Amino acid sequence: MVPGRHRPAVVRVDLSAIRENVAEEVKRLKPKQKLFAVVKANAYGHGAIPVAKTALKAGADGFCVALLDEALELRQAGIVKPILVLGVTPAEDAPLAAVHDVSLAVPNLAWLKQAEQFLQEEQLQLKIHLAIDSGMGRIGFSEDDEFVAANKFLTANKSFFIEGMFTHFASADSSDERYFQKQVARFNHMKELLTIKPKWIHVDNTAASVFDKNVPSDIVRFGIGIYGLNPSSNPASPDLHAALKLRPALSLVSELTHVKIIHQGDGVGYGSTYVADGDQVIGTVPVGYADGWLRKFQGFKVKVGDSYCPIVGRVCMDQFMVRLPQTMPVGTKVVLISNDPAEPNNIKAAADYLDTIHYEVACMLNDRLPRVYDNE
Ligand SMILES: *Cc1c(COP(=O)(O)O)cnc(C)c1O
Repeated sequence: MVPGRHRPAVVRVDLSAIRENVAEEVKRLKPKQKLFAVVKANAYGHGAIPVAKTALKAGADGFCVALLDEALELRQAGIVKPILVLGVTPAEDAPLAAVHDVSLAVPNLAWLKQAEQFLQEEQLQLKIHLAIDSGMGRIGFSEDDEFVAANKFLTANKSFFIEGMFTHFASADSSDERYFQKQVARFNHMKELLTIKPKWIHVDNTAASVFDKNVPSDIVRFGIGIYGLNPSSNPASPDLHAALKLRPALSLVSELTHVKIIHQGDGVGYGSTYVADGDQVIGTVPVGYADGWLRKFQGFKVKVGDSYCPIVGRVCMDQFMVRLPQTMPVGTKVVLISNDPAEPNNIKAAADYLDTIHYEVACMLNDRLPRVYDNE
């Protein structure tokens, strides 16, 4: 989708917040522990390249992405630090990853065997991280036999360099630790089965790190924390207390493009779900569900000038309407999402309003909204 450069609506990303969040986490690392900045999905919607470069300056040792294409995007931008693809890459693309020095996650033994054939044909060696499914139920080895067989298969196997072994937690953001501890026990058991020696063994995501879960992890895969958001993000739940101060980086800003007075009985938007009970001032904002600003935001309050104003009527594809307390000039600033956690339209509040998590809100704002960077 072409970015809308000629309309007043942008996602602003404060790179000084990104820099501080990463630097704060780097300070907390244990000796030899590394920080890999998780910049998958266009850095959670913040922009992969600017975020990656800022994270590098702040002390990141490497990167995690979800897709091989996201890794190649970083390489093309000149980033030479280690990059790990966390998702499953088609085995036939193993040579492409190897050529670009990108490390891939290994989901199972069948994948290893397939990848070996493609690598042998081109005489390439691939860096791999063995994924362990300790209870996330997503990818990775979960059965002892298969993991033991994979260890055997990898012994003295020239097609692979065993850079890592890792697992991912389903509930590191929860105060109830039972399932978390079950996963830790399962992962420790798999570690005991190792006959090969991965360079790095890692488990930490942002939550496991900032809530001080204290499980040994050679790498912290630092994702949501980069963006200044608390990983404890279940709708309407209070945040767990993070061990570091996080500063949100993202805001979504626009302007009033039209202001008018409507009268009793006049409707607003498709289906006229809002009807004025008297004279009212209605403003129009040029953002809609095609930007990822969902129809479910009807009723949410955005900040227009200094006032919080409810979205009235249904959100359209490219515009929505707000009820203003008094007439305001066209061009008045509208903050749809604030990067100030104290403001009622902060990203967590927006996520709560949609009954979702702030990860999803950041990711759903699409490319039609240009990203603008502050404090580079
Ligand atoms: C996305 C992801 C992360 C980062 O998680 P955050 O909660 O954003 O810190 C870490 N590890 C894996 C395997 C992931 O998929």
